[in-house]
Amino acid sequence: MIWYPYQQMKTMKPPFKIVDAEGVYLYTEDNKMIDSVSSWWSVIHGYKHPVLNEAVKSQVDKFSHVMLGGLTHEPVERLSDKLAEFLPGDLDYCFFSDSGSVGVEVALKMALQYYVNKGEYNRTKVLSLTHAYHGDTFKTMEVGDDEDYHFILEAYGEKKYVINIPTEIPALEEAFEKYHEDLNCFIVEPLLQGAGGMRMYDVSFLKRARELCDKYGVLLIFDEVATGLGRTGNRFVADLVLPDIIVLGKALTGGYIGHAATVANRKVYEGFYSDDPNHALMHGPTFMGNALACSVAYKSIELFEKEDYMSKIKKIEEITRREMEGFSDERIKEVRIMGGCVCVEVYDSQVLKGYQKFAAERGVFSRPFLNYMYAMVPYIIKEEELVQVLNSMKAWFSK
Ligand SMILES: *Cc1c(COP(=O)(O)O)cnc(C)c1O
Repeated sequence: MIWYPYQQMKTMKPPFKIVDAEGVYLYTEDNKMIDSVSSWWSVIHGYKHPVLNEAVKSQVDKFSHVMLGGLTHEPVERLSDKLAEFLPGDLDYCFFSDSGSVGVEVALKMALQYYVNKGEYNRTKVLSLTHAYHGDTFKTMEVGDDEDYHFILEAYGEKKYVINIPTEIPALEEAFEKYHEDLNCFIVEPLLQGAGGMRMYDVSFLKRARELCDKYGVLLIFDEVATGLGRTGNRFVADLVLPDIIVLGKALTGGYIGHAATVANRKVYEGFYSDDPNHALMHGPTFMGNALACSVAYKSIELFEKEDYMSKIKKIEEITRREMEGFSDERIKEVRIMGGCVCVEVYDSQVLKGYQKFAAERGVFSRPFLNYMYAMVPYIIKEEELVQVLNSMKAWFSK
């Protein structure tokens, strides 16, 4: 018996049973649908990509996995070199783990221990955003701010180590003024808050955050698990404002195998580099640096560069803006577009009830949540396929 995610098992509708997938299409026994969700925003190259398939197959024939404790291998070495070169600035020190949540946990642990290693034991607090989503494990829930997902935390009472602020510069300045002595880091989903409702905000907020982090010696963490690799129309938001630690996940392996990278800059790395064994980072997921995941991630980044994905994403944004122009309805609060993400926010979540079935009948797989109907398509989508996705969204409001 499968226990499905985020679902009341008693009332959930049966999920679509997928028997094949290729390009942007998911196939059930009797239907084909464009995956407008990219399997939780990860399948950026589409399904069954020949280059990525080959990367996995050729590695399987050598070995699928060896642990990184006392062992290393070419796929993980190649990927860490690639990431160091591909990421901006001196974000060069790659710690691998098996999922985005764990990658964020590692980043938070790094930030805390960075100060503990310096003897600054008071810096136990984390600053983060309202509506933040950083994963479903306990510390990531705590830094998150999403009651719809994480109301269970209320059982613990007040959050003692986390301060959540809105994406407004006065609130940011106030928080730093008040708490800077206690803060070890400020963690954000930069520019685009995904699971908290596809909320988009301005880069000026991040620029100010960088200044304040520098002024008060607080580490800046970008959780780019969702935004990394092009989703906002930037390769990384870190290209605009440089964080001390970046977390990548979801699209890192092109959606083939769960894997994440927590990549630190030189300053953070040096905070652990010493003759004292107690200064080491005590973390080590069993499957970190998995050879299949690293092989496919390497090839995924190579494709991203070679086939100029940034211009594909730019095109997706252009088409989306063109198609959504002038689209409105009294039930719609806002239509938001950024890079390869479009979100239609409605006033009342009941309005979206039944949309999934409606979309499936129009050859589109969609998964609206709460008040948000959205698309985050694979970057290889063709113009007419993208138009089909957007038409399905618009048609729901004119039926
Ligand atoms: C999905 C997501 C995570 C968690 O990643 P998992 O692989 O699901 O654990 C963390 N942060 C952000 C911003 C995400 O979108």
